[in-house]
Amino acid sequence: MADPTCLFCRIIAREIPATLVYEDDLVVAFRDIAPQVPVHVLIVPREHLVGLDGLEEAHRTLVGHIALVAQRLARELGVAETGYRLVANCGPNAGQTVFHLHFHLLGGAPMAGKMV
Ligand code: AMP
Repeated sequence: MADPTCLFCRIIAREIPATLVYEDDLVVAFRDIAPQVPVHVLIVPREHLVGLDGLEEAHRTLVGHIALVAQRLARELGVAETGYRLVANCGPNAGQTVFHLHFHLLGGAPMAGKMV
């Protein structure tokens, strides 16, 4: 169920513009409005989930699908060889600002700082 107050639900519904790079029946991927590296794409499920913490057993396939979409986009966007990160911030300490589950696909330049 879409949330009409949710920014990413509104992007998915094409009510707010974004630069889409991929979509299928489960996810939409679009360029981050404030890219941190040359390739910064958000992979977002069509279903409104608040974040990683909103996942349930029924979403097992969705998460695997997102990982494979990330791999595909990394190849298509030319960062697979040089390397990339897939990051999902969950909650305040992680710095989550949009409360619709999304994964950041980051690549195209060395990333400063290695958290883990
Ligand atoms: P997070 O801080 O992990 O919740 O990530 C939210 C991301 O959404 C940030 O990297 C923002 O730059 C990005 N963002 C916010 N508004 C938009 C928008 N209208 N279009 C694309 N990306 C956006």
